[in-house]
Amino acid sequence: MGDRKWVIGSAWPYINSVPHLGNMIGSVLSADVFARYLRLRGDDVVFVSGSDEHGTPIEVEAFQLGIEPRTYTDRMHEVVSRLFKLWDISFDNYTRTESPTHVEFTRRFYMEIYERGYIITRDEEVPYCPRDRIYLPDRFVVGTCPYCGYERARGDQCEQCGRLLEPRQLVGPRCAVCGSHPQWTTTRHWYLDLTRLEGQIRRYVEDNPHLPENAKQMSLAMIKEGLRPRAITRDNKWGIPAPFPGAEGKTIYVWFEAVLGYISAVIEKSPEWERYWKDRDTRIVFFVGKDNIPFHVIVLPALLMANGGGYTLPTTTASTEYLMYEGDKFSKSRRWGIWIDEALGLMPVDYWRFVLVYIRPETRDTSFSWATALEIINKVMNDDIGNYVHRVLTFIRSRMGGAVPPRGSPEPTDEEFIRRAMRLLGEAERRYERVELRDALHAVVEIAREGNRYLNARAPWDLAKTDPDMAGTVMYHAYWSLKMLGVGLYPVTPGTMARMWGMMGLGAGPRTWEEAMRPPEPGTRLGDVRPLFHKIGEDEYRDMMRRLNEIREAKAKAAYPWEAVYLPDEAH
Ligand SMILES: [Zn+2]
Ligand SMILES: [Zn+2]
Repeated sequence: MGDRKWVIGSAWPYINSVPHLGNMIGSVLSADVFARYLRLRGDDVVFVSGSDEHGTPIEVEAFQLGIEPRTYTDRMHEVVSRLFKLWDISFDNYTRTESPTHVEFTRRFYMEIYERGYIITRDEEVPYCPRDRIYLPDRFVVGTCPYCGYERARGDQCEQCGRLLEPRQLVGPRCAVCGSHPQWTTTRHWYLDLTRLEGQIRRYVEDNPHLPENAKQMSLAMIKEGLRPRAITRDNKWGIPAPFPGAEGKTIYVWFEAVLGYISAVIEKSPEWERYWKDRDTRIVFFVGKDNIPFHVIVLPALLMANGGGYTLPTTTASTEYLMYEGDKFSKSRRWGIWIDEALGLMPVDYWRFVLVYIRPETRDTSFSWATALEIINKVMNDDIGNYVHRVLTFIRSRMGGAVPPRGSPEPTDEEFIRRAMRLLGEAERRYERVELRDALHAVVEIAREGNRYLNARAPWDLAKTDPDMAGTVMYHAYWSLKMLGVGLYPVTPGTMARMWGMMGLGAGPRTWEEAMRPPEPGTRLGDVRPLFHKIGEDEYRDMMRRLNEIREAKAKAAYPWEAVYLPDEAH
């Protein structure tokens, strides 16, 4: 390790709203934890994402607000970028689809595909709402999914079974705005000829050893049904102008340009971008929720194949299952869930990061519930981890002169404890490598539990009276285990572990994974010792819920969407 090269991408959020906790663990936060782990390994990492800002939903909302779409997305991009910083997301580049680099790259990339004959035109019947007098974009047509029978499927995708759809396929199509039956009129559109790429895509998916089971199964099912040409142009104005001859006035469909952002964001970041995107040895990993599987596992690889420009195909798409909120789907309209701005007003960000990774929906849907969250905070973060760290550091400060004691003459039990801690960190390493972030975290937590058992068994407070040297030996080994704990937890709770490094007298935070294995330096002077976490009791929980209501009441009064976002450093 240490000589690997990675492009890490998290799904581009559509910024007509801020992400909620489910979006966060499905993409941005998981990607950040993985990127931070890789950097500790000394790997060469470029971690990118950006605001997905084009397309009809934002165009329509801006129109309703009486402002330009660009004004709307300028503000929202600024707000969302700040929220990600407050969540300690370590992007190397968080950009946007209005970035000139992205616009220019997208147009050139599509012309290259066009010149290679993978773009075809079709005259198409599009839905038109006679009552609203507008052409209806795909997602503004709703009806019954022909595959699974879900009655509120959108014309671009079925939320229930995840399949990509065309409005024509919906049974009983209706206008999403007014509910009337759409008429069909003719317009010309440019299509990606996915059918010609089907064999290549099938091999890419079948032969890929890294894809999670949900991504593989969903993609193979879609390929089996036959990949049909997909329209990549739209009749709206807010987007990237389609570059094809005769396509004046059309734009590239948002879904087909935002995925190219993983490349343009690296171009924008580094003049050496081809070192990443055109080197066979680069590992390219996307973090997305399962609803984003088709565009990352089928469409983007297909675009790269059609372009023929020597781009490396993605290594894998780390797709999670859904996170629910108290047993039900997050819903913006019903205000069901917690959004990432509100979360910042309730608890420190590392509490959220820890809890979300601890319950990350890796193999099945999981639910965020306050009961579980408080149990994780109070029992795991506070009792298992926080208390262990505090016991060790305060003992060294008050009984050992505030400096790491010498190793002395360890007994087998001391050495066995360190071996067990190393084995647990090794287990965490294997899990991190396989992007099993939840299991990695659970393995690291075991180090603290072992540590508490070790202290109880060795009782250094008794030894200090009878055999002070042996008490020092115990604290030396306990301190060493804190280094392992700190390195293992750093990707998940970077701010808190940086603070702990300061208390341990080790500087601003762990820099390498190997640091954990190196024995401590006796004589290292500790800094100020403060509790890492605190328990959240009944009263504090009630206060939090009251604060959440206040935040929501303030948001409800906002005139514009970007004002309906809670930013803690501006809070009164
Ligand atoms: Zn369906
Ligand atoms: Zn209508």
